[in-house]
Amino acid sequence: MATVAGVAVEPGHWIGGERVGAADAFEDVSPIGERPIAEIARGGPDAVDAAVAAARAAFPAWSRTSREERARLLHAIADGVDKRVEELAQVETADNGALIRSHRRGVMPRVAHNFRFFADWLLNLGHDDFDTRGHANHVSWDPAGVCALITPWNAPLMLATWKIAPALAAGNTVVLKPAEWTPLTASLLAGITAEAGLPDGVFNVVQGYGAEVGGPLTAHPDVRRISFTGSVPTAKAIAAAAAPNLTPLSLELGGKSPLLVFADADLDLAVDLAVEQYDNAGQVCLAATRLLVESSVAEEFTERFLAKGAALKQGDPRDEATDIGPQIHRRHLERVDGFVRRAKDAGARAVLGGGPNEELGGLYYRPTLLTGAPEGAEILTEEVFGPVLTLQTFDTEEQAVAMANGTRFGLAATLATGDPERARRVTSRLVAGTVWVNCFFVRDLRAPFGGARESGMGREGGDWSFDFYCDVKNTVTAP
Ligand code: NAD
Repeated sequence: MATVAGVAVEPGHWIGGERVGAADAFEDVSPIGERPIAEIARGGPDAVDAAVAAARAAFPAWSRTSREERARLLHAIADGVDKRVEELAQVETADNGALIRSHRRGVMPRVAHNFRFFADWLLNLGHDDFDTRGHANHVSWDPAGVCALITPWNAPLMLATWKIAPALAAGNTVVLKPAEWTPLTASLLAGITAEAGLPDGVFNVVQGYGAEVGGPLTAHPDVRRISFTGSVPTAKAIAAAAAPNLTPLSLELGGKSPLLVFADADLDLAVDLAVEQYDNAGQVCLAATRLLVESSVAEEFTERFLAKGAALKQGDPRDEATDIGPQIHRRHLERVDGFVRRAKDAGARAVLGGGPNEELGGLYYRPTLLTGAPEGAEILTEEVFGPVLTLQTFDTEEQAVAMANGTRFGLAATLATGDPERARRVTSRLVAGTVWVNCFFVRDLRAPFGGARESGMGREGGDWSFDFYCDVKNTVTAP
């Protein structure tokens, strides 16, 4: 048992409705002050086997539970989250260093919404019926079995529940493996599911390191679905582990998304959209980290951007007034800084920030804007996952589209333009799972979410989630 931000957390595994300890433990370090805050159970193949066995044993009864009963339990979990928004927000902020104000008002209420949305969607999930030469076709969604869900540290509970909710709603059982840097809110959620009355074994958590837990989990022959959010190299390891069993995969991966600013845009809006990319200290998969600005407005845009960027308040994420908190971990901060140093060596210039915040110390990295990176430079093509943006200019729409599409990613793109016709033209040519026009990060769970190219495989959201988490069946009955 640990006490984090005044909240009691039991950071063991959660298997078959029980807290399960481990012979070995690892230290969970808060990015605020880099202090150890909890000892976490370090899982391995045995814990994975036990969790998958518990999930498998719970599957027959859970999969036969009526839709109404599953929806009722998901709403009860959402109620439990709603009651604990403040506790969950405090613990998540201590664990991953993201702003308390966004956890309180945005993230944790959305965690509850994830459960409510998929509960309600389940109740309205249609059965397609149609006729073929007098034969009746009936399409139904059968639960697939045990789902392995593997999640990253940048939005731990938010991203986990966006998988857990549809997987459970569809009638599956779940083994969640949270990121080792942010294990705590998954443990709190386990308690909430038990209080809500979810049957034992329907939801399980195995804590631990990627290769030690994620490896055996994704190679497990009794796992019927793997949904993963994280980096491209890990996704490739998971795809290889899943291949012998042909386990279906959903992969939500990294990005290097562009923000295209055309001369006809509302420049104040464009600047606001650009500054928003520093949210979560830049640790956002969807972040439009490449600012592509039409040459004729580039100077004006940069001036206004620098004024707003310099005014951002960096500091303790527990302070409501803070705009930018720390990076998640020292290793991550060094990785971010490595990208910036190599970019400078290659000829880029930091017109904002450009290094760790030495006044604050710790894991604070200054919001950074780099200009003048040469074509093909690493900083223009690789995901940094920190508060680091680049600015490039273009002269024609053709050039803008080519630059926007010029990476191996395709997660999202944002456009600032006052011309709806241009928006339609450009959007149709962008390689991206989501395009935002004159807005950013507006998300609706009814919409498909996922990436093109190396940003992912498959889509989740609304029906797309049920398609993934189910074995869709067509039954044809003779007249
Ligand atoms: P990561 O790939 O290092 O780790 C993600 C998870 O995978 C962790 O739980 C980790 O323990 C586990 N893991 C590591 N090795 C494994 C293995 N061999 N087998 C199975 N599991 C393994 O990613 P990260 O650093 O935690 O997260 C940052 C990345 O996630 C960025 O690339 C970011 O863009 C991406 N991301 C994508 C989305 C999206 O929706 N597309 C959302 C958030 C983050």
